[in-house]
Amino acid sequence: MKLMTMPSEFQKALPILRQIKEAGFEAYFVGGSVRDVLLERPIHDVDIATSSYPQETKSIFPRTVDVGIEHGTVLVLENGGEYEITTFRTEDVYVDFRRPSHVSFVRSLEEDLKRRDFTVNALALDEEGNIIDCFNGLEDLKNKSLRAVGKAHERFEEDALRVMRGFRFAATLGFTIEEATYQAMKQEAKLLAKISVERIFIEFDKLLMAEYWRKGLALLIDAQANQFLPDLAGKEEDLLRLMAVIKDTFTFENSAQAWAHLMISLGIYDSRAFLKKWKTSNDFQKAVSKIVSLYHFREKQELDKLSLYTYGKEVALLVEDLRQARALESDFARIQELDEALVIHDKHEMAINGRYLMQEMGMKPGPQLGEILNRVELAIVNGQVPNQIEAIRQFIEEGDKNE
Ligand code: ATP
Ligand code: MG
Repeated sequence: MKLMTMPSEFQKALPILRQIKEAGFEAYFVGGSVRDVLLERPIHDVDIATSSYPQETKSIFPRTVDVGIEHGTVLVLENGGEYEITTFRTEDVYVDFRRPSHVSFVRSLEEDLKRRDFTVNALALDEEGNIIDCFNGLEDLKNKSLRAVGKAHERFEEDALRVMRGFRFAATLGFTIEEATYQAMKQEAKLLAKISVERIFIEFDKLLMAEYWRKGLALLIDAQANQFLPDLAGKEEDLLRLMAVIKDTFTFENSAQAWAHLMISLGIYDSRAFLKKWKTSNDFQKAVSKIVSLYHFREKQELDKLSLYTYGKEVALLVEDLRQARALESDFARIQELDEALVIHDKHEMAINGRYLMQEMGMKPGPQLGEILNRVELAIVNGQVPNQIEAIRQFIEEGDKNE
């Protein structure tokens, strides 16, 4: 098969393929971008595979960065873009069902394609637009089918993350999983217990964010893969409810909202403890907790100025969006109104600060100063005091008298 028109992302990267070829090596576009072009989906990263070894690749291009040279990957900066160029490789030594500890560079494209997870991810494209399809990936693409490259059981045993990737691609592409591949995923799901949580998080997160997340999640639950994920063992009913309580067509706005919905559906109040087990970043834990806690606040009462100020408009919109998806009463206009009525949106917008209190009002640094600032902040937000220096001074001085 030949692509008649190359999308602009590939056009832009064509000089790179040509330069590698001129230096006497082979080079192809590979992986997700080739799949996505054929599916007419937007492309993100354009990955290139080559027969040149990393040092050889580096000698061809003036601007390169060693991003993963031990795995054969060199980042090339060309034509205003960044391209990962990876030497053809096999991954022959798998230790303990994880990613290989050792990769061997090879000179054959087919060897490289063989190590890839699913046939639709194992397509290559040359500079003339020819598709190289060693494993019937084009046929699977047409049938919207995910099929492991080679013997499914072996491939999942080699790297059990592929089980998770299977659910993830079902979710992003909306494909069905070919029967033998699915049976193998089911049987090998237990090996997920051996995979690093960080790698699993990335795939699960992509699954939740995907257009067909219900499909991916339903397959994951059916395969009982949740038994081997942090704090999700025995939670299949909650996970099923997570889908049942939310409108069919709903997709999540962002990761934090997706994970917050998971927390709410699982009845987990301490999102941080849960997300710590998933080894997520502190910032992510904070973002999810905010959504969860405002969601619970909204179960009890309407949004007010102080809660909007505390959580921020963005979080409030995400919560309202979730409520709407769960067929609960929602009020987006109120968020807008309250936000417009807020005199300040952040404590840095206060007309005074700690330095002012010390320099102009002779206060000493310490916890008391912090308390006063908090009191002023609250009063400004609630509209008790205008956000003006004189008014604030008066408010503080009166407060002192009353104490
Ligand atoms: P996306 O569009 O979400 O980035 P992708 O197909 O590009 O999807 P990546 O995780 O970026 O997926 O990986 C790039 C390519 O590397 C895949 O298409 C696949 O060929 C190969 N690959 C990645 N991870 C694995 C793995 N664990 N086992 C086998 N092949 C893999
Ligand atoms: Mg990719």
